[in-house]
Amino acid sequence: MQVINKNYKSLDDLQDNLDLSNFDSKNTLIQVFSGLVTVTEVTEIQAIIKKKCRDITFIGATTAGEISNGQVFKNSISVSIMKFDHTSFESNYFYSDDDYELGRKIAKKNFKKDTKVVIIFVDGLLTNGNEVIDGISSIDSTIPIAGGMAAENGSLKNTFLFNNEGVYRKGAVAVSLNSDILKVFTDYQLNWQPIGKFMTVTKAENNRVYEIDNISVSDIYKKYLGNVVGDGLPHSATEFPLLKLEDDGVEVCRTFTHKFEEDGSLLSIGNLNVGDKVRLAFGNVNLIIEKAKKNLQEYPLLQLEAVFAYSCASRIAFLQSDIVHELEPLNEAAPLSGFFTYGEIFHKNAKNNFLNISLTILGLSENTNKQVIKTQNKNTVKNEEKNFFTNKHFIVLDALTNLSNTVIEELNSANKKLEEVQNKLTELVNHDDLTNLYNRRYFNEIAQDFLQVAKRESNKFSVIMLDIDKFKVINDTYGHLIGDEVLKFLSSLLIENTRSTDTVSRFGGEEFAILLPFTDLDGAFKISEKIRLAVEKQTITIEKHAIKLTISSGISSINLDSDSNVIDALNRADKALYEAKETGRNKTVVF
Ligand code: GH3
Ligand code: MG
Ligand code: MG
Repeated sequence: MQVINKNYKSLDDLQDNLDLSNFDSKNTLIQVFSGLVTVTEVTEIQAIIKKKCRDITFIGATTAGEISNGQVFKNSISVSIMKFDHTSFESNYFYSDDDYELGRKIAKKNFKKDTKVVIIFVDGLLTNGNEVIDGISSIDSTIPIAGGMAAENGSLKNTFLFNNEGVYRKGAVAVSLNSDILKVFTDYQLNWQPIGKFMTVTKAENNRVYEIDNISVSDIYKKYLGNVVGDGLPHSATEFPLLKLEDDGVEVCRTFTHKFEEDGSLLSIGNLNVGDKVRLAFGNVNLIIEKAKKNLQEYPLLQLEAVFAYSCASRIAFLQSDIVHELEPLNEAAPLSGFFTYGEIFHKNAKNNFLNISLTILGLSENTNKQVIKTQNKNTVKNEEKNFFTNKHFIVLDALTNLSNTVIEELNSANKKLEEVQNKLTELVNHDDLTNLYNRRYFNEIAQDFLQVAKRESNKFSVIMLDIDKFKVINDTYGHLIGDEVLKFLSSLLIENTRSTDTVSRFGGEEFAILLPFTDLDGAFKISEKIRLAVEKQTITIEKHAIKLTISSGISSINLDSDSNVIDALNRADKALYEAKETGRNKTVVF
């Protein structure tokens, strides 16, 4: 593979100095990044290149900044020429009124058996890139997509795409790189510093976000970042985007293009969904430089032959001249070109992500007959570390971020402890100490809830009141402590003989109440008898004492028409229990 990146200051420069005579072949692919963004200029660029390219395939997009050999240019034309040895192309323009459908069209036409990557430029203002990527992925998400949304110089008027066939205001140009041996490497960098607490998107529709933590998204910005940032929306969000973490660890940032005054909602580049967990974030030059140093070590090992950077326009707007720190190390690995976009595409683990704010990287290598023509830059981070770390501004920023995030961590840990104490308290308030069964208070509370549901859904339900026969004798014979053990033993026996949906409670002393949802009187009688017989049969052995026991029960069913309170049914069951005691004990009486 042969790679050459050139940058031209003007249309004349392009016309006079772009020499493709050595490259005119079906194996050559050119990417054109144009910082000249009017329709006249773009039309002329397409015409000039087309004339010079008989067999060469080219695709182009307007930009918010051009990258050529690791350097950044504005209002120029950057041309990246790649002559492959073992790769062919399928290049097309796509249009649809439906953005998702547009994505499906791209995949259907451009995905071939041996497609290793598809480079796509989508118009930056009329199309929802997120929908396009979702459409592509609905056909096949395993083929990597790279590229981004066309951009312009900030006037937010028009973006353009072009290829051998023409110039386009809306839609997408796509080129598939088809090969048996082409190696594709993808990466992305964000290094934006999350700050403050995690919040949840509570109201959103596609790329319009209404509320976070049930507060209008504009008010969230005001609340946490103050009026200046709040009033400066949507543009101020470029410096403080929302950052969310995808399942596979990809950090996705969202910025905004429009604020709706009527409700403070914001239009985002790329979708946010209800339930997404987000944090505010800001560009942290220290993080970026640290990462750049790492890349300087690691990228050369990848043995790439060409590297492309599709980087967010917000990134250059925020980082300004510091942007070169993260680009130069990439250019050390292989000739780097690319552009500043209105949205980038990143592929990882068979998933295409539509990103904002990030730098996405595409590395290519055919790894045969390697002839890399590389411009060595002198101003790399290696020998020009700058004095960011001694710069007060960044030290203060770092310290404040640390302060904010530490306070949040402390709050989170305090909240967690509070939650544990609350859970413990609820446990104590609802349970009986000795038996760990529910207590009378909880029973009454839940019984009322059951009654309401039962009334609404016309469900039957019944209650059992149950009392140990002659328990006083057990206490008198074996002592109170053994009496306690008997109560515990009976409690487990009750749990074993009821369903998990039944509520067994210790009502007081040696008296128990059981709530049986979805159970009529017949069913309640069967359960009561099952328990009674199980108790009668059992010999309880405690400290070598073999203790026999019987119980008496009274049961009643809820009358959905006349009972307004479960206590009505409990009173009836209590009367039945009294009758059971009066008429000989060890029996169930139905009221
Ligand atoms: P009956 O068949 O009429 O119900 O006779 P009984 O002896 O079971 O009824 P009574 O109400 O006369 O006595 C209940 C006994 O239960 C008296 C009380 O000391 C005992 N008791 C109540 N709570 C506890 C407890 O937590 N532990 C122990 N060991 N005994 C308890
Ligand atoms: Mg008793
Ligand atoms: Mg009693």
